[in-house]
Amino acid sequence: MNYALIFRGHNFEYEVQAVAKIFIPGVRFQLCREQDAPETENWILTELNPVQNRMQVKIRLHGMQYEDSLPAVPETAEQEFQLCRMLWQGLQKLTGYQPPWGMLTGIRPVRKVLDALGQGMPPGQVCEMLKQKYQISDRKIKLALDTALVQQAVLPHSPREIGLYLSIPFCPTRCSYCSFVSHSVASAKNLIPEYVQKLCEEIKILGNLIQNYALSVQSVYIGGGTPTAVSAGQLRQIMQTVQEFINLEHIREYTVEAGRPDTMTEEKLQVIREMQADRISVNPQTLRNSVLQKTGRCHTAEQAVEAFRLARKLGFANINMDLIAGLPSDTEQGFADTLRKVMELHPESITVHTLTVKRAGNLYHDTAYQKIEIPAVEKMTELSARLLPAAGWRPYYLYRQKNTVGNLENVGYALPGKENLYNILIMDDRQTILGAGCGASSKIILPGQKITRVMNYKFPYEYIGRFDELMAKKEQIAQELEKLALYN
Ligand code: SF4
Repeated sequence: MNYALIFRGHNFEYEVQAVAKIFIPGVRFQLCREQDAPETENWILTELNPVQNRMQVKIRLHGMQYEDSLPAVPETAEQEFQLCRMLWQGLQKLTGYQPPWGMLTGIRPVRKVLDALGQGMPPGQVCEMLKQKYQISDRKIKLALDTALVQQAVLPHSPREIGLYLSIPFCPTRCSYCSFVSHSVASAKNLIPEYVQKLCEEIKILGNLIQNYALSVQSVYIGGGTPTAVSAGQLRQIMQTVQEFINLEHIREYTVEAGRPDTMTEEKLQVIREMQADRISVNPQTLRNSVLQKTGRCHTAEQAVEAFRLARKLGFANINMDLIAGLPSDTEQGFADTLRKVMELHPESITVHTLTVKRAGNLYHDTAYQKIEIPAVEKMTELSARLLPAAGWRPYYLYRQKNTVGNLENVGYALPGKENLYNILIMDDRQTILGAGCGASSKIILPGQKITRVMNYKFPYEYIGRFDELMAKKEQIAQELEKLALYN
């Protein structure tokens, strides 16, 4: 079925589209400007009319109609907000759907809470503001507030405290829902040795910059992909370079997102321990084999549990486990069983993602994706939000993504003191993070100034082939770090 969005007298396409997608997910809207007539029965018109000094919304959806208008407000941001609010109310009325995050379309609800708390607003008033302004449900407001309160206690104090991210963009196979640039080990086999070598070169360069400007590395995060998809020797080569060239004196956490249980051997876990990383992720996503089989992950629930036990046996005292709510063919009961079993293992943190499928994911084109029931997925996330805090895992980071089932959220829950700083900071834009490897970006944050982002090339072959050009970009990073070095 086709749908059109018609915009008249304003440039709020992005926000209007985001609101429409809350109620009409997974469609590509025909976008029409001014007098263009839509070629479809279903359309939404949003208009700002300066002559009549009015804003109006008209909706025609599946034979139903809605119309509303208001006197125009003078300020542009407020015009956008009011127009979107009228649209949200209209779509809510026509569809009967009450989105849990209300009309909030942004990816960082916690940021709104932290900003309000930072301005001195008491927590109760923050909750009221979120409810009145964005129509967010009480459950989600509580989740955002609880998360913000945990974050407040762990945020860094000095702009010179930074994080380091290293990307290893290879995986044993491609998960059906994956839209990252990750390459399967089989297809990238010949690239991996050279990739590792270039990554080590980049780590050395960043290490020199960090030393030159006397920055303090607080966290290292080796992610991907699946970092343990490379050999134990290659992993050692990378982590050894970190040991030699990055000053880890002030480190608060060092994570290797091992990820896929089928890549975790005793030898690789020993390398990680020896190189002083103290946190790993063992990500089952689900402990139902029938569901796992449909994800393309090629490991079983038993392997995930074995990998967890092996890591424990080798002395890892900070393990995260990732789950996904909404995997095709999973059920509320199935998710509840997975959650219970994972809680019984007692990892230090449990991250509950909601399924997100972008066009680049194989699942996007699969009918199984269309069959996912949003109310059931909502219940899975609600169950996590109820059971985990009651058992001691507090929500400590929360973000939303486009194309997530039901516009729901991803939440990291951790035992007190086991919150992952990097996960908080990557979403929060409060700390400089230097990135190495393909797809990584460096984000330099000077207080009160525009954030500088320097992107690396997206694909491994580009990263290797254009490495010299990439190194030229380090000059820009150096200029920004020089300014950062002036802060205490
Ligand atoms: S493990 Fe992660 S990065 Fe690798 S294919 Fe699966 S979703 Fe993508």
